[in-house]
Amino acid sequence: MKPKLAVHKFSSCDGCQLAFLNAGEELLTLSEQVDIVHFAEAGLVDIDAKVDIAFVEGSISTPDEEERIQRIRANSAYLITIGACATAGGIQALRNSADHKAWIAGIYANPAYIQSLATSTPIAAHVRVDLELWGCPVNTQQVFSAIKSLLFQAKPRVTRETVCMECKRKGHVCVLVTKKQACMGPVTQSGCGALCPGVNRACYACYGPAENPNTLSLSHAFEKLGLEKNSISHKFLHINNQAPAFKKAALYDQTK
Ligand code: SF4
Ligand code: SF4
Repeated sequence: MKPKLAVHKFSSCDGCQLAFLNAGEELLTLSEQVDIVHFAEAGLVDIDAKVDIAFVEGSISTPDEEERIQRIRANSAYLITIGACATAGGIQALRNSADHKAWIAGIYANPAYIQSLATSTPIAAHVRVDLELWGCPVNTQQVFSAIKSLLFQAKPRVTRETVCMECKRKGHVCVLVTKKQACMGPVTQSGCGALCPGVNRACYACYGPAENPNTLSLSHAFEKLGLEKNSISHKFLHINNQAPAFKKAALYDQTK
């Protein structure tokens, strides 16, 4: 019998699910090796199916999602979160430090109909997660490499080295050194193939913090480039604003 696989969606933009859909022919090959039983974006719906591998995109930001993730965990042997929303709460987690009720009242004509939590939190804050794949969005290669490892009963390999390491291996010219751009590559984990520096643009940290990131040192370097403390803090309050290392680094504007 083929292993069963599900792709679940929570609060998110759906972009990480495209990592599957964009795989094209590889997705067809995968469907010969596994039974994809739930993947609403691809038209397959069986939300409470018991599966061997569950991929989860999106953050927990409604009471319904709080309850649904518990059911999914109970039905899944191996649970993998994909993307910044599922692993760190996503850009929508900026609301965690705002007045949630005031925003709802200011935006919606009938706030009573809106059922959302005051916070957006990662899946790991609610259930055990077996593997986290970061990125906004994750890339197809990361996702398929994890599936292949699991099909061979091997532990998927993830590296949390910096984008700079990947950037150097590819021979890109450093935009921080040569163009004085405030590149977040020194504190961001790789996985994207150093995409932005490859087109002469600074990294904005969509893959989240690398292992032991020296955010203070990078913040000092940005200040030497002429950035205001407030702008430096904002660089960490981005897609992965609730990742602990970035949340702490965002307090830079409060340092003397
Ligand atoms: S361009 Fe950015 S990611 Fe690349 S080496 Fe320079 S600082 Fe690191
Ligand atoms: S270089 Fe940085 S911002 Fe660009 S895709 Fe990679 S991690 Fe994301």
